[in-house]
Amino acid sequence: MTHIARKRFGQNFLHDYGVISNIISSIEAKPNDHWIEIGPGQGALTEPLLEQGVRLDVVELDRDLVVLLKDKFKHHDNITIHSADALRFDFSALSAGEKLRVVGNLPYNISTPLMFHLLEHADCIDDMFFMLQKEVVNRICAQPNSKQYGRLSVMMQYYCATECLFDVPPESFDPIPKVMSAIVRLVPHIQPPVQVNDLAKLNTVVTTAFSQRRKTLRNSLKKLIDEQTMVELGIDPTARAENISLAEFAKLSNTIEDAPATI
Ligand code: SAH
Repeated sequence: MTHIARKRFGQNFLHDYGVISNIISSIEAKPNDHWIEIGPGQGALTEPLLEQGVRLDVVELDRDLVVLLKDKFKHHDNITIHSADALRFDFSALSAGEKLRVVGNLPYNISTPLMFHLLEHADCIDDMFFMLQKEVVNRICAQPNSKQYGRLSVMMQYYCATECLFDVPPESFDPIPKVMSAIVRLVPHIQPPVQVNDLAKLNTVVTTAFSQRRKTLRNSLKKLIDEQTMVELGIDPTARAENISLAEFAKLSNTIEDAPATI
């Protein structure tokens, strides 16, 4: 059975065996690990993963591919195939006490919301490996004082340790995407690296500061935090968002008062 790649499901199937074996060796799957694969497609990563002796749950949105996968793996006991949308999937329900490991060559159009959805289940996840657009991987791993550093870097690094593993060229896929890809490893922190009193406030400060990234903090955060408070925190009000570390964003967000309750 041949499957025609569907653009609306972000389908770019991996067919380069060198890349597949690089992914398999970097994720260091061990027998009895419990893995979740998101978007297994035609099973490019699924099959070598099963060969490692792991327990595997896969979540695939395209029902035609689910039929194909069920047929392909009908003689395997260690795999459960879920015909579902990963964006709405309850990953915690799969973890019976043990931690999950996650891998996915993600559809690029949903990669950011999907990562944040998975992070809602971070306490039952050991680590996650994603194939993403290289530019997105660079943003996730970026450090302050760089052009790539932004909201995604700060919020992801609040939740996880991030590591860019290796690049994957467009020709490794069918159909060939327009962009370069890369593999990132995310390891959810057991304890947050910085004290944040209210995550929604951190999100507001970071989003506001980066939405006008050329402006000084004094200007971009004017409505949220006054200049004197920044100085007291040891943060230069003439700095820009890209100069501010996660720890400093956390301090800034912790100074914001709760909005008065509306009656
Ligand atoms: N892992 C395969 C396929 C990658 S293409 C490979 O490397 O070859 C991306 C896959 O994600 C496709 O199979 C697509 O159907 C699936 N997909 C797209 N949106 C999804 C969603 N919301 N939930 C689960 N799977 C999804």
